[in-house]
Amino acid sequence: MGSFGASPRRESHAVRVGGVTIGGGAPIVVQSMTDTDTADVEATARQVEELALAGSEIVRVTVNTLQAARAVPRIRERLAARGVEVPLVGDFHYNGHELLAREPACAEALDKYRINPGNVGFGHKKDPQFAAIIETALRYGKRIRIGVNWGSLDQQLARALMDENARRPEPLDAASVLREALVRSALDSAAKAEALGMPADRIVLSCKVSGVQDLIAVYRELAARCRYPLHLGLTEAGMGDKGIVASTAALAVLLQEGIGDTIRVSLTPEPGAPRRREVEIAQLILQTMGLRAFTPLVTACPGCGRTTSSFFRELAEKVSAHLRERMPRWRGRYPGVENLTVAVMGCVVNGPGESRHAHIGISLPGTGEEPAAPVFEDGVKTRTLRGPAIAEEFLRIIDAYVERRFAPTSAIEEPRPPTQSS
Ligand code: SF4
Repeated sequence: MGSFGASPRRESHAVRVGGVTIGGGAPIVVQSMTDTDTADVEATARQVEELALAGSEIVRVTVNTLQAARAVPRIRERLAARGVEVPLVGDFHYNGHELLAREPACAEALDKYRINPGNVGFGHKKDPQFAAIIETALRYGKRIRIGVNWGSLDQQLARALMDENARRPEPLDAASVLREALVRSALDSAAKAEALGMPADRIVLSCKVSGVQDLIAVYRELAARCRYPLHLGLTEAGMGDKGIVASTAALAVLLQEGIGDTIRVSLTPEPGAPRRREVEIAQLILQTMGLRAFTPLVTACPGCGRTTSSFFRELAEKVSAHLRERMPRWRGRYPGVENLTVAVMGCVVNGPGESRHAHIGISLPGTGEEPAAPVFEDGVKTRTLRGPAIAEEFLRIIDAYVERRFAPTSAIEEPRPPTQSS
């Protein structure tokens, strides 16, 4: 007999970032990143708010110029004025040491600094520039992420490992050496940060690559060799279905093995698609794996020749939209409502069975079946709907069920960005 469920989470230090904990057994944190020009205070604040409202518990912004660094405290103020307290991470490359030194208000406003060891500085400048960022982080009590990336791997280190490998009696293949270079870059940089006085429980690591198998191999290695919390993400995952499938495949394997304390799904948004899509996908990965719950899930059958009308697909879509629309209000009023499951099924074959397994379910009539739709609540058939208003009636039944089952608290809160709730 095999065992079921995800492996226990790998042990790691708990790193507190703003009001959120990464690692140490805390719920796996969902992160995202803006794609606005950070120097544009209003556009960036608006997108951070959109991501936070969608459920991003930490948001990263690029800090690449003096204008961007100057904008950061103003973005923070604008968010505070709107009641958004999501922790902000500054993404620094090449000139982070300089920007942080010149803009102390930026250094203060950020909760965490992301440092890429591959481009923090080159040659003899690398160590002092890295040290300058660490010293700033220490001065302001900030956390850091050592974020190694396949596309900007420390070339000096990669060459040294290649040379070392060539001298072996049985050299490893080039891909293995490059994976080792990624891991070594992260671990060596973390050790340097600790040597400079950064406590281990203020350091998060990531080693992002764009290939699914490489990502899994690199993180398994990293997980075995340290106790820093790990930020998972497939970099440059791509657009649309490809990006979603690749990210899900890679992250699911690692999460199942108990590896990963915070995740980001790096989707390239399709034209016109909202940035929050990456947050929704990250939440879905965690929720469908049973690792966290964010929003009620709708189970719907795929449909087949037994249900030739499009009615049940439309109802499934209506129910999903209804739940999404209700959630910002429900989240404050009904604790635990994110665990709600709703089934919308196409016919009598699997309809009643699946509906009984959900909190609330409906089994629609298939082609040639009696035009009646039994509704099940907590496994018990409670009524049968008929006629043209089935959809509206079912939505009302869901609302009443939520009110009854997830007892309202006395204070009705306004919608606010989600915090770690599970
Ligand atoms: S529940 Fe009915 S309609 Fe849906 S896939 Fe199964 S047999 Fe087809």
